Amino acid sequence: MAQDNQEKVIVIDFGGQYNQLVARRVREANVYCEIYSYRTPLDQIKAMNPKGIILTGGPNSVYEEGAASAPKELFEMGIPVLGLCYGAQLMMHVLGGKVEKAPEREYGKTEILVDNTASEVFRNVPDKSIVWMSHNDYITAIADGFVVDAHTVNCPYAAVENAEKKLYAFQYHPEVLHSEYGREMLKNFVHNVCGCAGTWRMDDFAENTVKALREKIGDGKVLLALSGGVDSSVAAGLLAKAVGKNLTCVFVDHGLLRKDEGDEVEAVFGPSGQFDLNFIRVNAQERYYKKLAGVTEPEQKRKIIGEEFIRVFEEEAKKIGAVDYLAQGTIYPDVVESGLGGESATIKSHHNVGGLPEFVDFKEIVEPLRDLFKDEVRKVGLHLGIPEKLVFRQPFPGPGLGIRIIGEVTAEKVKIVQDADAIYREEIDNAGLNKTIGQYFAALTNMRSVGVMGDERTYDYAIALRAVNTVDFMTADAAEIPFEVLKKVTNRIVNEVDHVNRVFYDITSKPPGTIEME
Ligand code: GLN
Repeated sequence: MAQDNQEKVIVIDFGGQYNQLVARRVREANVYCEIYSYRTPLDQIKAMNPKGIILTGGPNSVYEEGAASAPKELFEMGIPVLGLCYGAQLMMHVLGGKVEKAPEREYGKTEILVDNTASEVFRNVPDKSIVWMSHNDYITAIADGFVVDAHTVNCPYAAVENAEKKLYAFQYHPEVLHSEYGREMLKNFVHNVCGCAGTWRMDDFAENTVKALREKIGDGKVLLALSGGVDSSVAAGLLAKAVGKNLTCVFVDHGLLRKDEGDEVEAVFGPSGQFDLNFIRVNAQERYYKKLAGVTEPEQKRKIIGEEFIRVFEEEAKKIGAVDYLAQGTIYPDVVESGLGGESATIKSHHNVGGLPEFVDFKEIVEPLRDLFKDEVRKVGLHLGIPEKLVFRQPFPGPGLGIRIIGEVTAEKVKIVQDADAIYREEIDNAGLNKTIGQYFAALTNMRSVGVMGDERTYDYAIALRAVNTVDFMTADAAEIPFEVLKKVTNRIVNEVDHVNRVFYDITSKPPGTIEME
């Protein structure tokens, strides 16, 4: 959200895939950063008084008719400019260099050799390192006044600069982690070239966002569907600080939450919690169980849970009447997932509350976390004083335990899986593994088998434990939890949870398995 009188760097979006990563790296260098479309009038950019400007990559070719462009004046304002990939090509194109289709398209990790070791942007960067390339065009002639900073085998002008005018151009993408020293290079640009002090912190984001929300919303009324997940909780915290009682949070307890979760959310956001807001908890457990009775097909279960959520929320929204804003905890990866973002953006509702906008009478959507990545959201959450337990909560699907109970969902089964899962999480914590495993949970298989307990025959359920490590949640491997830990969890579950006499550990990877079981 916009901030005043602050050292900032502006990222100009040409439709590249990694634009938010550029902004993120700048923030990591402790400099505030905002992204604007290349269509933004130059006067408007100038008025923001940026310390530097970064031009992103993009799908066009600069020499094509109608390609996304920038006026020459952009490079003549005395503001440092760094062009990345398309941005680099554009800088050369506009300033009199030449860009053509490359004989050899470069994609992936490429070795770069530094020619100008005195360059400010290559400070603390070794002469040889790996950068990430993704281009079909390349610069064949550089503009007057520029010198070569670095090259690769296929790319004579991998990095060029005009130090006097503070103009820099990289053909590669320093923002992606495959570029070994990319972070360093971007930091060098914002600190050494732009002269930013680097005093900005995520805490400032929180404070400034609160201020900006207050200005934007004024006396307006805001409605938020609070799920108890990190994102909606942090959004609620920011909005509560900004507009207090003008924020109403509706928290639907669908009876498919983890053990004690409903109460934990209420403890933080309810009347005796630390925030000043209107908190409505709807205890809709019975309604959900009734709807789910007899339903075993996973997709149908998901559908019922999703639709029922909309119904419940709609009823509450009707009681409140028209609101000015519908708030959502959308974070940047959601924006990307929806295939939106940046240049082509039209706001889409957050998948967790998908469909809500159609049922609520409101004027505008507010999404205070739209530019942030998950770990940044967590930092804001901690700054707001939201308990760690909530801030570092395990990812939890919208349909909740409904899809961690194979087959029909009943109140009894919910209790079983809640208790087993609580034990599992507690023991993972005790073993100090909670931050090393990507995601872990207990599920209730629909299988019953014979066992013996206290000399008596039992015929009870089997719990499945799942734990996976994953980088992107697209693929995953089973986590290698020490056998001792698994044994302890198993012992506790069969001893402490009624109607469970067997525990399995799921070692299937994704694919062919999925992370959740339904
Ligand atoms: N479209 C340009 C090219 O192919 C720029 C690509 C990019 O910015 N990643 O070279």
